[in-house]
Amino acid sequence: MYADVPYIKYLMENYAADPSFRERLQARPQETLQERGIPLDAEMALEACDMLCGQAREMRTPEEQNRYLQEYRAYQREIVEEYEIRIADDAFAEREICLWSRQVHRRCRMESRQIRKHGAIHYFPLLFELGDGCSVQCPFCGVDAPRWRENFAYTPENAGLWREILKRSVRYLGRVAGTSSCYMATEPFDNPDYEKFVYDFRAVTGLVPQTTTAVAERDPERIRAFMKELGPDAMGKAAMRFSIRSLRQLEKIQEIYRPDELKDIELLPNNPESLTKYSLSGRAIRLCERMGEKGREKFIRYGISCTAGLRVNLVKKTMEFIEPELPSGEYPNGYCIRETLGFADADEFETGMKHLFGTWARAELPEDRVLHFNAVCRIAEKEDCVEFWGDGVGCSLAKDEDFLRAVRIVREAASTFAEVCRTLSAQDRRALLLWQKFQYLYERGYVRWA
Ligand code: SF4
Repeated sequence: MYADVPYIKYLMENYAADPSFRERLQARPQETLQERGIPLDAEMALEACDMLCGQAREMRTPEEQNRYLQEYRAYQREIVEEYEIRIADDAFAEREICLWSRQVHRRCRMESRQIRKHGAIHYFPLLFELGDGCSVQCPFCGVDAPRWRENFAYTPENAGLWREILKRSVRYLGRVAGTSSCYMATEPFDNPDYEKFVYDFRAVTGLVPQTTTAVAERDPERIRAFMKELGPDAMGKAAMRFSIRSLRQLEKIQEIYRPDELKDIELLPNNPESLTKYSLSGRAIRLCERMGEKGREKFIRYGISCTAGLRVNLVKKTMEFIEPELPSGEYPNGYCIRETLGFADADEFETGMKHLFGTWARAELPEDRVLHFNAVCRIAEKEDCVEFWGDGVGCSLAKDEDFLRAVRIVREAASTFAEVCRTLSAQDRRALLLWQKFQYLYERGYVRWA
């Protein structure tokens, strides 16, 4: 099954990362494939690469006749489906958190057509950092990771705390806790004990967290041992990705690792010459300024964070409740921090976790919190309705006197829903009808609260 996928993957990754390879493949497909010892039909492989890398909108031959394209898409679909199961409604133990998580998903898609293009983007309710800072310091780092300072060592005491935190997370959040990654503004392999924490994670949650490393060439034997321990099943579910920071690093990785070892490892071409666009977030904002006009095409504004919920740092013993945001002056790193708590032990962690989700993960619009319209939202008052627009999508709601006045009140000055009702003297059924319309907008991300 998927016999040609390793070759297509290799071609695609080089095509996306290396402009000179791309030119060679486009100009002399047969010769280029022969040079690399790839036994594929050259024209068909080139067409598949063009499509998969977004360089062609349509194909000369019908898509269903390109078996490489079909095979690669089927392979990708299996991974996407695996993650959909992990984040499905029944993976959440708390219905309120599930509903809120769906709202965040809808809001992010409304705010950005870039996010909408990628159906497989999910927002997970939990992530862990097993270090403080990152040694790699990529110039495009979307979360502006600070320099590495310290690791969370796998001492008996720390290991006990880790397992207890995982158990309580699964008990409270449900099996969706197994979707957590163990890094954010950190490089996983900066921590010499990273693997031990991952094996505990698997033992408690039953799932292997995905790992993205930017230093796959630093200690290949360590990475090989890790891959072997995880096993082919976990590796086949995209448990591992290598971030490529330069063409030299790509060459080195392809020299170090055999094609069969790279079969299930996604290489993420993040080198400056690649086709990948950087999120205009974190350090990439400064990189974009340095590149000036020349770099304009390389950056797009979209939120980089895939967490809506807790970011737990085991070194600092902090838990932040974060939500993804479009990068802006207010949220340069693509997420906002709603509240931060510290914890000294597993009991404090559990209390803090419940407090943070209970406070911030609200499926229903709270009546006593200050409302405002989403900064991306454009509002148009029409003859018989009010339209709300995000980035290329919108909705409209029937216009009545209360609703129109309520929209104007919230636009002019942030107010709570209770204050809006008082101003309009709206009670009982009138207040309820108004609430239903604001709830509808809240569920789609047009209305937010602080
Ligand atoms: S992108 Fe990843 S590896 Fe690079 S600096 Fe940021 S956190 Fe570190």
